[in-house]
Amino acid sequence: MSSLEDYERKRNFDRTGEPKARRQPSDGGPRFVVQKHDASTLHYDFRIETDGVLKSWAVPKGPSTDPSQKRLAAPTEDHPLDYADFEGVIPQGEYGAGSVIVWDTGAYRNLVHEGGRQVPIAQQIENGHVKVWLEGRKLTGGYALQRMGGGRRPRWLLVKLDDETADRRRNPVSTQPESVLSGRTNDDLRQGRRA
Ligand code: MN
Repeated sequence: MSSLEDYERKRNFDRTGEPKARRQPSDGGPRFVVQKHDASTLHYDFRIETDGVLKSWAVPKGPSTDPSQKRLAAPTEDHPLDYADFEGVIPQGEYGAGSVIVWDTGAYRNLVHEGGRQVPIAQQIENGHVKVWLEGRKLTGGYALQRMGGGRRPRWLLVKLDDETADRRRNPVSTQPESVLSGRTNDDLRQGRRA
């Protein structure tokens, strides 16, 4: 069974401009993307490429560069790799209706090793703790995703690791609201302004 089944079941591709296609893994190694999604409630979708899909979490307050700021991150369905470039307006009445911009993106590295080998991201997710190094335009350095408790809908936290890239004074969620692809904000998209 494809892990993209949930993604496809929730969407009407005659109505939404979101991608359906799949594609080969990114050239130059796996990528991450943070999409700012102004839906019924504003959130940031944090996605990392692994095993041919984007593993995804919805982060209501968005990522922080301050290690003391733990950000709630709710797991959401796997998305196709093509989604990493998606910006647009999902029509009213459709799943996730609202505007989406690519708030940050770049390469990432897996930071978890055991016995000289990398622990696969899928295994880290299964274990409930993931550590990656991001090479974005707004976000750089180590980030951890940590599962809190169990149950059918476990909560996760997204936390900046306390490394040399940590910065308690920056707050890119408020000071850098625009897309790194087009320079547009969610309001620009909603109002139909072009890049
Ligand atoms: Mn979303």
